[in-house]
Amino acid sequence: MYKPDHFLPHELVDQQTYALFEGQPDTIYRLFPEGLLRAADDLRELFGSITINNWFYGCERQWSGFRHERSRYYSRNSQHSSCNALDMVFSHAEVPAVHAYIMANEAKFYALGIRRLESLEATAKHDGISAGNWCHMDTKECGKPEGKIHVFRP
Ligand SMILES: [Zn+2]
Repeated sequence: MYKPDHFLPHELVDQQTYALFEGQPDTIYRLFPEGLLRAADDLRELFGSITINNWFYGCERQWSGFRHERSRYYSRNSQHSSCNALDMVFSHAEVPAVHAYIMANEAKFYALGIRRLESLEATAKHDGISAGNWCHMDTKECGKPEGKIHVFRP
């Protein structure tokens, strides 16, 4: 199990899931691939503050990590449904710069298990979660040549 340096359990799951595992932070961290959490830590160290979920602080985001079937944003095929995706909002960086960094360091992120980024065109639009601009990365194998991270448009 990997305990992230920069993300608390309530930043990764919704309020209901957090309550279910209250006092069991390791259990929440274990839901996610270690490399996905390590990649988020890496981006946090380079680019500064990242918001995944912020419901704990009374704000609106609670489906940017895990999404279960009671989420209004649930989709069976989403990587969020299996804890394999994170949506990250950057306080001090533009998402195109984050994508450029990941692709410039593709081998490192691939080694961490990152396989896909959602296209900038897709995440610039309102998806029902936030009108903001976020970076979606996930670990879904997509049949691309080994070592390649795929930028997909949903
Ligand atoms: Zn996403």
